[in-house]
Amino acid sequence: MTSAISINDLRKTYANGHEALKGINLEVQARDFFALLGPNGAGKSTIIGIISTLVRQSSGTVSVFGRNVATHVYETKLDFGVVPQEVNFSPFEKVADIVMTQAGYYGLPRALASERTEKYLRKLGLWEKRDNRSRMLSGGMKRRLMIARALVHEPRLLILDEPTAGVDIELRRSMWEFLQEINQSGTTIILTTHYLEEAENLCRNIAIIDEGRIIENTSMKSLLGKLDSQTLVFDVQDELQPEMFAGIGLARSRLIDPHSFEVDIGRDDDVNHVFRHLETKNVTVKGVRNKTNRLEQLFLSRLKSA
Ligand code: ADP
Repeated sequence: MTSAISINDLRKTYANGHEALKGINLEVQARDFFALLGPNGAGKSTIIGIISTLVRQSSGTVSVFGRNVATHVYETKLDFGVVPQEVNFSPFEKVADIVMTQAGYYGLPRALASERTEKYLRKLGLWEKRDNRSRMLSGGMKRRLMIARALVHEPRLLILDEPTAGVDIELRRSMWEFLQEINQSGTTIILTTHYLEEAENLCRNIAIIDEGRIIENTSMKSLLGKLDSQTLVFDVQDELQPEMFAGIGLARSRLIDPHSFEVDIGRDDDVNHVFRHLETKNVTVKGVRNKTNRLEQLFLSRLKSA
């Protein structure tokens, strides 16, 4: 498989001494749909900035389709399109002109530039707005315009920084469909997101970053597989002593308060084992409930344990 992005021991210390990246290693295969997930300030935009040659790393290497981005800035620029978080086109420029200008920047001949501009404005539902000044567009439309602009030179890699932040749910879904279509036609996509649902719906592979370090790097499937475990909360009659539930032997159990504790039950675990154990300790179970266990929780628990 071809590697779209290869990152080796990447470090970035900003001029103010802040260590934003503390040795990142990451591989993204060609045609992948890859999520970079993490809280604010984790270092996502810094990674994106370095991949897209806007930020210079302090050390380490980044290759895009086998080329070192630091030494092949021009060739790398042709290989990717970026959709930044912030709207960064002129509010007074017309929609079609914004895409045409970008095509010109990449040296596309005028006829091809017009053809592509129409193609992507249509695909993103903006063709009717082509003669409007961009300030007339809604927030969602502005975001779609940035996607059209990023695709006009048909890059092999599309990088999106928080693509659907502030976009309403209906529009978000239609953007997801569009991105999936682009990915299926062969474009590698890497996105940063706060929306776990977004990563879950779109991405095949995922890296979770926190405080400049990768704390999880796996397939979405295996991450979700971990979620197939559930957390049960047991409320018991008598005051619990640590030894009463310590021998449960299942993956993890935690005391919540003197009369309740929680246990993570994996797919292959037998919950009866917990009941049997409690019986031997003469603990009377008053009730068992399921603690909600979503990707959010997994995310938070990974951040805590990393
Ligand atoms: P994210 O995109 O995950 O929110 P960033 O990559 O923007 O994170 O930021 C990572 C860290 O680096 C943050 O602590 C941020 O304040 C800091 N940082 C980002 N850009 C600069 C800069 N130009 N100068 C100094 N510190 C910066």
